Amino acid sequence: MKRIAIIGGSGIYDLDILNNPQERSIETEYGTAKVKMGLYEGQEVVFLARHGKGHALPPHKINYRANIAALKKLGVERIIGTTSVGGISAKLRPGDFVLLDQFIDFTKNRTYTFYDDAVHVDMTRPYCPEIRKTVMMAAEMLKVKVHEKGTYVCTEGPRLETSAEIKMFASLGGDVIGMTNVPECILAREAEICYGAIALVANPAAGFTDKISYQDIVEMTKSGGETLKSLLTKSISLMPEERRCACKDALKGAHFGELFTK
Ligand SMILES: [Zn+2]
Repeated sequence: MKRIAIIGGSGIYDLDILNNPQERSIETEYGTAKVKMGLYEGQEVVFLARHGKGHALPPHKINYRANIAALKKLGVERIIGTTSVGGISAKLRPGDFVLLDQFIDFTKNRTYTFYDDAVHVDMTRPYCPEIRKTVMMAAEMLKVKVHEKGTYVCTEGPRLETSAEIKMFASLGGDVIGMTNVPECILAREAEICYGAIALVANPAAGFTDKISYQDIVEMTKSGGETLKSLLTKSISLMPEERRCACKDALKGAHFGELFTK
């Protein structure tokens, strides 16, 4: 049986669909990660709350390496992350769902890799095409509107952005803005785990509105939570058994040191 993991972002701190759930602390060389494991429709599912219980961890304090290393240790082959974002693109409204297909990294002070020895993984398509296809199928079956593509701009935070920054990100092709997909998405690729992310637009980004209220973000995130959970569970049931994408071989040919010394 293949294991799938859900990394819940803001608003998703639990996954109450699991049968016989068990909480576990997974030790890794990067630190400890707390997960909940259980069964959903006969499939083993691991749930990890990215921000911890009670949203204790801001984006720049999350131990991304411990989280991904723990999921790897548990034999997880696929991860679907959820993320609450600000909308940059004019076509997006609060409450919309976006299935990310690209990111642009503007973080400043994180650890981006498991390797210090010249491993360069391909990130042409950072989000797994198989997961993306499955989530779109789930959305169609549930009749939930999901924007099929979106470029995620990742900032360091924890402050929100200035309107000048948002103007710049818009001119660079950014559709939504958040603080957590980097390095989570990169580390999953390095661990050869498929990674997909569903973003919920919680607010218009800076400059499209006078002021961003954190209260509004929390309320929108809560109101989209149930639909997001149904998208996740449907995607889990539709996920194919075998992986046919390139994510599982991401490290093949990625060791430059080895290639040049052959
Ligand atoms: Zn994949």
